[in-house]
Amino acid sequence: MAANVDTGKCVACGACEQVCPVEAIKVSDAASVDESVCIECGACVNECPAEAISLP
Ligand code: SF4
Ligand code: SF4
Repeated sequence: MAANVDTGKCVACGACEQVCPVEAIKVSDAASVDESVCIECGACVNECPAEAISLP
């Protein structure tokens, strides 16, 4: 399990990438989460201005 990105909502601002404590997120056209690295801390969910990331 890992944080899930709604690529239709993501505006590629990079805020989640900056805040992730384990560098699980990379942003190009949209954020993408490495499921093997994410620890489900929720930091990205709280930081995203577009409400594009959620936890399961
Ligand atoms: S939930 Fe935490 S560990 Fe997972 S991608 Fe978001 S900030 Fe990174
Ligand atoms: S914080 Fe939200 S809008 Fe910004 S890159 Fe991450 S998922 Fe996309």
